[in-house]
Amino acid sequence: MDPYMVKPGQKVHLAAWNPDDTGDFAGKPEARKALKKLRKELVELQERLYAEDKHKVLIVLQAMDTGGKDGVIKSVMRGVNPQGCQVASFKVPTPEELAHDFLWRVHSRVPGRRFITIFNRSHYEDVLVVRVHDIVPEDVWRQRYEQINNFEKLLADTGTLILKFYLHISKDEQKRRLEARRDTPEKRWKFAVGDLKERAYWEDYMQAYEEALTRCSTPWAPWYVVPANKKWYRDLVVARTLVEKLKALDMRYPEAPEGIEEVQVPD
Ligand code: ATP
Ligand code: MG
Repeated sequence: MDPYMVKPGQKVHLAAWNPDDTGDFAGKPEARKALKKLRKELVELQERLYAEDKHKVLIVLQAMDTGGKDGVIKSVMRGVNPQGCQVASFKVPTPEELAHDFLWRVHSRVPGRRFITIFNRSHYEDVLVVRVHDIVPEDVWRQRYEQINNFEKLLADTGTLILKFYLHISKDEQKRRLEARRDTPEKRWKFAVGDLKERAYWEDYMQAYEEALTRCSTPWAPWYVVPANKKWYRDLVVARTLVEKLKALDMRYPEAPEGIEEVQVPD
């Protein structure tokens, strides 16, 4: 019953998904309070995940530049034990990565049992930037939707909970954020002139996202379109989804070995 989940088979038209949506929340203070509560739950759930040593959790974050991938990692994962959590960022592939199939570098970073791994960008770049800029021929990237679905099925079948979030901002909001980066000394290091070039391809990116979201939201690895113009609502939606799905795993602390109460701890 999640309004932001792309139902398998549902055709996504991003123009119909409101990036300004804030659900039932009146404003930031209320949402931040709710987020704080969710974070507490998340910390507890992650302890269980680690203790139970059974599940793996993969979170995929995709967005246009300034969409808030870094912000989500910072504000949702705050407080989670770093020992059980990893972030993998995927940049322009190296020559070694390019010498392999496109899933090679990604597969090597997926979570093992008891870990949460966050992908900051992901294998979806290979049907997004690669498609927009014709980096490989169309018949090559076209095959990738099915290859991605099969790859994610393998991960899911072997114990991975997969949650994929597209942080949906509007083109206007990106302009405001780029200007803020330009004008704020503490943000300026993030301002990349190259991002302006990508911005010119906005419509092509939206088309590429629409097809990726439509073709790769599966029962075993759903996509969520997160309204992301308001940072406080974006964080809340991601945290809420994560907590809900982790709860559904019904994780248990391992049974204590029999007779442990009688074991004497030597002086
Ligand atoms: P971000 O923008 O995610 O915060 P960043 O600014 O630190 O990260 P960038 O180098 O700007 O680092 O971002 C990574 C760049 O690598 C993006 O432009 C992305 O499209 C590109 N990229 C990622 N994967 C691929 C790929 N498979 N093929 C081509 N380009 C890719
Ligand atoms: Mg960048």
